[in-house]
Amino acid sequence: MMLICCPHCQRKNRLDASRLSAAPVCGACKQPLFNGQPTAVDANGFARHAGADLPLVVDFWAAWCGPCRQFAPTFSQSCSQHEPRARFLKVDTEAAPDLAARFGIRSIPTLLIVHQGKEVARVNGALPAGEFDRWLRSQLPTAG
Ligand SMILES: [Zn+2]
Repeated sequence: MMLICCPHCQRKNRLDASRLSAAPVCGACKQPLFNGQPTAVDANGFARHAGADLPLVVDFWAAWCGPCRQFAPTFSQSCSQHEPRARFLKVDTEAAPDLAARFGIRSIPTLLIVHQGKEVARVNGALPAGEFDRWLRSQLPTAG
């Protein structure tokens, strides 16, 4: 069994790992647990997802940052390819400065892989799609 945090209501769902790919819905709000799109979170939302079992791929970004805006479609596309192996989160560093400080984010975009509350890997800058994909495949831990 795995704990999966709902991207809509942030309730935790207990799910058999074999059902991950079977388009599971949230027991509380009945919305899909995976919709192929990154989830925007604040510090509280991040904590909810970090307390669940899926590895997190986190995009620390800001609206004023050109490279961040350029990278956004790559991140979204990658999300649709890698779900349900990972949960893709977007953290607006302007809205959640404490969370950015906690992870020592000095430049944006910064991409982090976090699993069980701990940083597993990070890369700075807007990577080309192929490079980002290779990085994810080499760094993503197995969920569960
Ligand atoms: Zn829900």
